[in-house]
Amino acid sequence: MVAEEENCGNREERVRKLVEAGYETVAREIIACIRCPLHESAIKRVIGKGSCNPKVFFIGEAPGESENKSGIPFYGRAGKKLDQMVEYMGLSEEDWFVTNTVKCRPPGNRKPRVQEIECCKPFLIAQITLLNPKLIILLGNTAEKSFCPERKLEWGVPVEHEGRTILKLYHPAALIYTASKIEVQRGFIDKNRELWQ
Ligand code: SF4
Repeated sequence: MVAEEENCGNREERVRKLVEAGYETVAREIIACIRCPLHESAIKRVIGKGSCNPKVFFIGEAPGESENKSGIPFYGRAGKKLDQMVEYMGLSEEDWFVTNTVKCRPPGNRKPRVQEIECCKPFLIAQITLLNPKLIILLGNTAEKSFCPERKLEWGVPVEHEGRTILKLYHPAALIYTASKIEVQRGFIDKNRELWQ
């Protein structure tokens, strides 16, 4: 554990240096990163996709099998659900960006561990700082635990957090397995449209 903490370094210091260096350096550092054990099973690093000036910044959980091969977040079935969700929200391509709590795929599709999330978090915070979205949407409980572990958010209820608005919605994969959540998710979106319009 001590070695892992040393590898992960001081979060504030890492974020400060990454933000100063700019987005392209953040992307290069993600590709070269061996700070946590997840790099051992990664084929491609999954940095993020979307606008460089987004209104909405989505945070998912972790890369899955197809993301690991493609290097693109939300590439498979969950990606199609995210696309449908974004369309329902009325967002255009320039309006949104998506990434995950960790940039490398956890083996066997397990959830990322707290230490792995913490180690990767400076990349996430630097991306948010540099892209400066109006709204952060946490897709599911893992995103919530990563981004604001000290809080317990209600689904679909926006709150202010460290100077930004955050909103927790269902992860698109949950909409595949529990179809009844699709209508509930639409209700959350309808209630909150003014946050991104
Ligand atoms: S998951 Fe993040 S911290 Fe871990 S090796 Fe990959 S980029 Fe580095």
